[in-house]
Amino acid sequence: MIIPYDENNIFAKILRGEIPSHKLYEDAGTYAFMDVMPQGQGHCLAITKAPFRNILDVDQSSLSAVISTTQKLARAVKSAFSADGVTIIQFNEPAAGQTVFHLHFHIIPRFDGVALKPHTGQMEDQNVLAANAEKIRQALASSS
Ligand code: 5GP
Repeated sequence: MIIPYDENNIFAKILRGEIPSHKLYEDAGTYAFMDVMPQGQGHCLAITKAPFRNILDVDQSSLSAVISTTQKLARAVKSAFSADGVTIIQFNEPAAGQTVFHLHFHIIPRFDGVALKPHTGQMEDQNVLAANAEKIRQALASSS
C-alpha cells in the first residue's frame, strides 16, 4: 500500500519558503540544502521538488534527477572538505529510520578513522552551517 504524501512535512515547508534553509543548489526538479542536525561536517540533503514520500512512490524521471543532484553534491562536498569519501543514505518509512516524509538523500563527507556522529537531535550552530554551505557552493561553482 502506498501511503499518501503529507503536504505539512518539514521539507515541503522548506520548498514553499515557509521555513528557512541553507540552500546549496537548485534546478528545475531538485533542491539541495544543509541538514540542520548534521551527523558529520558538511552533511547535506538532496530532495525532489515534486511531492514524493520516499523511493517507494517516486517516478523514474524524478528519481533520476535527484540522484544526479546527489552525485553533484557528493563531488562538491568531497572537494569542499578534502574528504576521503562520501556516504549516501536514504531511508524509507519509519521502520527503516525515515523521519521526514519527503524523498531525500543524505550526503555526508567522510574522513578516514572518523565515525559518523549519532543522530542527537541537536541543531548545529547556524554560523557553522552557513560557513559550510558557502564552502559547498564554492565547490559547486568551481566544478561547473
Ligand atoms: P531521515 O531520518 O528522514 O532520513 O532524516 C531527516 C533529516 O532531516 C535528518 O537528518 C534531520 O537532521 C533533518 N532535518 C529535520 N528537520 C530539519 C529542518 O528543519 N531543516 C533541515 N535543514 N533539516 C532537517
